[in-house]
Amino acid sequence: MALRLFTLLLPAMVLLGGAFAALMPVATLPSAHQNTVAALPYLLALITGFLGCSFRRSRILFIAINLAAAYFLIQTYLQTSLARPDAYVLFTAISLLLPLNIALIAIYGERGVFTLPGLLRIGVVSLGYALLYILLQAQQLPYLLPELPASMLEMVAEDTYLSEAAAIVFLLALIPVMASLILRKTHTDAGLLASLVAALVMILWFDRPLISSLFVSAALISLAISVVQNSYNMAFIDELTGIPARRALRNKLATLGRQYSIAMMDIDHFKKFNDTYGHDIGDQVLRMVAAKINQVRGGGKAYRYGGEEFTVVFPGKTEQQALAYLEEVREIIANYPMAIRSEQRPDDHKEGKRLRDNHRGTEVVSVTISIGVAEKQESHEDADAVIKSADQALYQAKEAGRNCSVTSQQEPETRKRPRSAAGAPKDFARQG
Ligand code: GH3
Ligand code: MG
Ligand code: MG
Repeated sequence: MALRLFTLLLPAMVLLGGAFAALMPVATLPSAHQNTVAALPYLLALITGFLGCSFRRSRILFIAINLAAAYFLIQTYLQTSLARPDAYVLFTAISLLLPLNIALIAIYGERGVFTLPGLLRIGVVSLGYALLYILLQAQQLPYLLPELPASMLEMVAEDTYLSEAAAIVFLLALIPVMASLILRKTHTDAGLLASLVAALVMILWFDRPLISSLFVSAALISLAISVVQNSYNMAFIDELTGIPARRALRNKLATLGRQYSIAMMDIDHFKKFNDTYGHDIGDQVLRMVAAKINQVRGGGKAYRYGGEEFTVVFPGKTEQQALAYLEEVREIIANYPMAIRSEQRPDDHKEGKRLRDNHRGTEVVSVTISIGVAEKQESHEDADAVIKSADQALYQAKEAGRNCSVTSQQEPETRKRPRSAAGAPKDFARQG
């Protein structure tokens, strides 16, 4: 969990650190170069917004709009002393709008961009900025200064520009942003947190030259990176189980050296399991089995091959060496009790009904897997041929009674007998 959050946040941390490190050097740049830095966020907002649109990540687009609108007002109207009443009102409004919008966007689910909810949300995010722009044009902002509550005039600390009111909004915004990050664990949420932190730093030390350019750029780049990482995950990570998918396996196979072993695994009688307990419980089992296989030791790397089949690749290992680690996984899965609440079972299925009638409340079941493993040999033309050998060994394991591992070079008579009751009609045994 902590490691996952760390990897999600790594690009954002590097970028925000970079923006921080660049603060001093950019202040000494010639003004022509400073202008380039100041123009950067517009370009980045365009790129990021476009990526958000084309990859159907509406929240990325909303954040890009939020940052770009705030940045536009800052660059156009706030390159002046905040002692001016209109400038201060604009600044303090932006310092509230930025975190408020980020908090809202953190709560949003994916409802598309060019849909009614999508367009409405663009409206919501832009509304405050549009209102500020109209008030600016009508030169009404100075008159609002006397109306501001004391909390918008008092700073939390000396030499900073974070008002007490803004500090509270930032703090409150952190709640939905962190909740979304922890619950959804997506790169988009990491980008959202990066945007919140960037906005906070920018407001805190607002008088530093180009601070808004640097931190808005850092936030936008981390959002753009999150789109790319999301797309990578969609292509290479299996959605149901969260472990690498077939496409990732193909990449791995291309990097293997001269010695390696490949194991093919298949859940036993899974069709019957689905029929008995329903597809949803079947999916739950797939997730559990994938999680256990993913923890294989010995340097093995796990993939969902497809359906209820998994592949583990052991670089540099013989099949005998791999076998010990595979057997460990097989036993862990066979001994793992899966609690199933009876009411989760489909009531339209005869067997499910019979089981429910017999066992009320929670039921504990276990599933087993069969494993075939093969090592790379001279006779194998490529990794696909090794997979084929592993598949044949897997077939032998099924023939031998399931819940066992078979190596490609094993003689038939020495094959392991299944540990469970021989000839049991179901490999998912009820235990409660
Ligand atoms: P065997 O022991 O010989 O492997 O028997 P089996 O029933 O597991 O084999 P079979 O290939 O006939 O059935 C595989 C079943 O896996 C069919 C399908 O219902 C189930 N299955 C495949 N993918 C999924 C999935 O994503 N979710 C769920 N719930 N079931 C799946
Ligand atoms: Mg199968
Ligand atoms: Mg099967």
